[in-house]
Amino acid sequence: MLIAIDGPAGAGKSTVARAVAGALGFTYLDTGAMYRCIALAQLRGAGDPLASRIELGPPVLLDGDDVSAEIRTPEVTARASEVAARPEVRAALVTLQRELIAAGDYVAEGRDIGTVVAPDAELKVFLTASAQERARRRAAETGADVAQVLAEQIQRDERDTTREHSPLQAAGDAVQVDTTGLQIDAVVARIVDLARADLDSRV
Ligand code: C5P
Repeated sequence: MLIAIDGPAGAGKSTVARAVAGALGFTYLDTGAMYRCIALAQLRGAGDPLASRIELGPPVLLDGDDVSAEIRTPEVTARASEVAARPEVRAALVTLQRELIAAGDYVAEGRDIGTVVAPDAELKVFLTASAQERARRRAAETGADVAQVLAEQIQRDERDTTREHSPLQAAGDAVQVDTTGLQIDAVVARIVDLARADLDSRV
């Protein structure tokens, strides 16, 4: 079974996807980390960033080097949404992602899982939250200034939603959950219930 969790930065996707995977015994796939690795390889001057070896771990390894912390820096974050707009980058990573999720039960998190990577996912969730709330959460995680995070997030959201290839959008059949003001536990419980209902309907 595949659960696809898409949505903008800071909507709570990583926390929710990880917890849902843990509750169901599924494997968690952080597709954003893959785009971040390609961005870091490019920043490090790799001739062909797409030839880099990515292992999602944890820890996340780029050509064998632990980059778990470095892929979360603001510089890599900004570059990731730039490289993610390039069709050849998307094609290569989508192929890798499809190979991974074919191998078992997954909770995959990203921007285009329900629309492009796996349109036939059994359960699709589109998580959102207000821009303010998303920036507040990110700032609390990283210790950065909320206004600064908000300014960078607006630019990233703009790039992610307006790019020509696989822009961020909810699949028509996705369950939309606005997490503003909701406890993460409640969101996780709701998704786990939906997944169990789907599993039950197929036995
Ligand atoms: O989810 P995360 O913030 O780690 O993703 C980093 C960037 O990678 C996003 O801003 C987005 O541009 C890109 N991304 C994407 N498609 C995905 C996952 C991430 O375009 N499935």
